[in-house]
Amino acid sequence: MLPTTVPNRLPTEPPLNRYQEDVNSFHIAQKQFDRALAHLPTLQHGLIDFLRSPIRSIALNFPVEMDDGRVQTFAGYRVLHSRIRGPGKGGVRYHPDVTEDEVRALAGWMTWKTALIDVPFGGAKGGVVCDPKTLSQGELRRITRRFIADLGDNIGPHTDIPAPDLYTNQQTMAWIYDTYDGLHPGENNLPVVTGKPMDLGGSYGRGEATARGVLFAAQRLLQRKAVPGLNSVDGARVIVQGFGNAGSIAAKLFHEQGAIIIGASDSQGAILCRDGLDVAAVASCKAEHGAVAHYPQANVITNEELLEAECDILIPAAMENQIHAGNASRIACKLVCEAANGPTTPAADDILRERRIVVLPDILANAGGVCVSYFEWVQNIENEQWDLEEVNGKLLKKMCRAVDAVVDRWQQLGGERKTDLRTAALALAIERVAHVALARGIWP
Ligand code: GLU
Repeated sequence: MLPTTVPNRLPTEPPLNRYQEDVNSFHIAQKQFDRALAHLPTLQHGLIDFLRSPIRSIALNFPVEMDDGRVQTFAGYRVLHSRIRGPGKGGVRYHPDVTEDEVRALAGWMTWKTALIDVPFGGAKGGVVCDPKTLSQGELRRITRRFIADLGDNIGPHTDIPAPDLYTNQQTMAWIYDTYDGLHPGENNLPVVTGKPMDLGGSYGRGEATARGVLFAAQRLLQRKAVPGLNSVDGARVIVQGFGNAGSIAAKLFHEQGAIIIGASDSQGAILCRDGLDVAAVASCKAEHGAVAHYPQANVITNEELLEAECDILIPAAMENQIHAGNASRIACKLVCEAANGPTTPAADDILRERRIVVLPDILANAGGVCVSYFEWVQNIENEQWDLEEVNGKLLKKMCRAVDAVVDRWQQLGGERKTDLRTAALALAIERVAHVALARGIWP
């Protein structure tokens, strides 16, 4: 049988959205990087070139036997952006729209994220082009095993450590562990992957960590009075776009802190209820019927309408490029909290800043996931198990410290009149990585 998907390494025109924006994630990541460089005048040119692109990109093609006996060929990628501050770290996503450039962008964002949250990792990311919604558990297991086996020693507990991302979960991580462990018998291989099930070396609090980190970051930012007209999560009207791991748990956690969740969505559609949604009921509706739009006590609207609905905090928790040149002028919140990676385009960043809408950027807002991944990795190496209070307490400290450092840098750079939080966060992260690169010395 002929391969149905092949690694897309052929040069292609950059994808444009309807508003003529280049929405290639890697180009966007580089644009963001260049904006931050304007605030780092002393960084050497050669080092800039090195940090601007990944150090390694692996593109794989591998065959998998499907349930009906057919053989299908899949494309998979693992990109290592940087190992300067420690082993590569980052999730693996399974999605039909995965491209090598997307994974390259996501790997870079991991480098800046681990630097900001200050865990001793670099940045990496992986992806397989597939549609998990149409695949059986057996097919997903065979895809995972073959992908990990073919990556071989390009991942490892001290070289590059995968984790969950879009449409991968604890089960996927268990298969990754098991495959790697089979290839390296007799060693403690638990730290080769994080986000594992609790009874297979997982950490308390990892499942909720991304969303909890988003909450902690938002609370700290509001305490720092960085958002005009908004002082607390308590009483804030919140819209969550995307009801997967990050979005559904963020809705629950913000609600527990007194926020009113007025809107939610998934890939099937969106719901809005100005009096507030019953978050637990929306979650069970999604679990039972597969879509939040089945929730009866709300108006069903489109995902586009949801993003533009009036609220205090908008939490994009789905895919890249959701807030763009075409809708940024109609976004009607005070704070955008990026639970997703790359949800806002550079053109939208400019429009939002002009409109005094603050964006808490992905590399800071959603760093709680990789932070607790680091805690899991430490527990695996030490053969320890920390309780939930300890994990959440350490996460809170890390998130607050990171938000404080970014807000301080932002204020030094002139605050909202001069730049946005993303640029300040990137400037700080790039500086931290560059500092370690120079301390280690350029080899040889
Ligand atoms: N995929 C998550 C992220 O984008 C978590 C990565 C990790 O825990 O290594 O941050």
